[in-house]
Amino acid sequence: MSDKVNFGDELVSPEEKTRRVGHVFSSVARRYDVMNDLMSGGMHRLWKDRFVNRVTPRPGEAILDMAGGTGDVAFRMARRGAAVTVADINADMLEVGKERARAGGRNGLRWQVENAERLSFADARFDAYTIVFGIRNVTDIPAALGEAHRVLKRGGRFFCMEFSSSDWPGFSNLYEAFASHVIPRIGKAVANDEESYRYLVESIRRFPRPPVFRAMIGDAGFVRAAAEPMLGGLVTIHSGWKI
Ligand code: SAM
Repeated sequence: MSDKVNFGDELVSPEEKTRRVGHVFSSVARRYDVMNDLMSGGMHRLWKDRFVNRVTPRPGEAILDMAGGTGDVAFRMARRGAAVTVADINADMLEVGKERARAGGRNGLRWQVENAERLSFADARFDAYTIVFGIRNVTDIPAALGEAHRVLKRGGRFFCMEFSSSDWPGFSNLYEAFASHVIPRIGKAVANDEESYRYLVESIRRFPRPPVFRAMIGDAGFVRAAAEPMLGGLVTIHSGWKI
């Protein structure tokens, strides 16, 4: 890739974007879980519960939780008996996840550093692929979707949860004000890192709208690509099947 891409509102080279995203998550890793609670008022826990209900992990299934970070979604799926591999480009995020797993006595998860754009896994290895609040940070999204398709078995399920700009009248203005002014300030106060949280807000704003992203899932070869909005479209669960 050679064209410029967005890092938040700034145009940078693809390599620079991947480097800067790495810096953002290394910088927030230690405070990531507490910041999630503060920024969403604890709502992210409900969204993740609902997401995992949609995925319906079954005992013994092999699931790849991509961009799995500190393991929030993976722990929920492992609790249902699935064999979960947590993969993330950022070793610092995975390290926090491994510490959480040790502290909580959660054994049996595999943790692996991986770039979603170029996975080291064999073809047709997993029953389900999940990616939560991760794909908007990936530089080459079509490449990541292509890799998701490749590593899934036939009949495998793709599930992605991502923020989306809300269309609800009134609500969207309120959210916009909260996102632009409040989130970076919480980032500064709690994590002493206004810039990283400003990037997170800008990256949400720039992520394709659900109909566009649904089409990208279809282009990657998934069938029955769907987008299910939650909370007035603030968060959307996208899904697709490999046949
Ligand atoms: N899924 C977790 C959750 O919901 O709590 C973590 C989400 S966190 C907002 C985004 C994660 O995406 C970070 O851990 C980051 O390192 C990871 N990430 C960004 N670009 C990636 C890439 N190209 N491949 C794999 N992971 C990536």
